[in-house]
Amino acid sequence: MKHNCDNHHIKMIKESYWNIHCKECDKYLKHASYAELDAWDKMTEEERKIVTYGQLYNICYQQIVVYDKNDPIAYVKSFSEDTVWLDIPYDEKDEAKKLKAGLHWEPNLKVWHTNINYKNVMKLNKWFFPADRERVAHYHNIKETV
Ligand SMILES: [Zn+2]
Repeated sequence: MKHNCDNHHIKMIKESYWNIHCKECDKYLKHASYAELDAWDKMTEEERKIVTYGQLYNICYQQIVVYDKNDPIAYVKSFSEDTVWLDIPYDEKDEAKKLKAGLHWEPNLKVWHTNINYKNVMKLNKWFFPADRERVAHYHNIKETV
């Protein structure tokens, strides 16, 4: 089973390439992309000690604008196109979390979201917003047939 290290602390190790390792699982995660190395370079020593892979990913690939309650749409649009917003009633959040499909809570919007790349994302199907149903299903159908 693939371990999900998104919430684990990381370190950069120079091997043949610069690679990202999980400090908690003590294992290789991936080659560092240019964007990831650049973000790492800009961090202080203290920030590097506490950053998780999920946070590094967000810094690199999501230019999140500062939340302004007068303009929530701009904030939503600043998330990656890979984001899938979820309409999960409070009473069903534990059920959703058990599916291990990368759920994250967005505190400003008070909405759950995940990423279209998660293997288990279709298990969250019943909580997709109508506009996303076809987009996410299509993405995963194509992946399976390649
Ligand atoms: Zn880990």
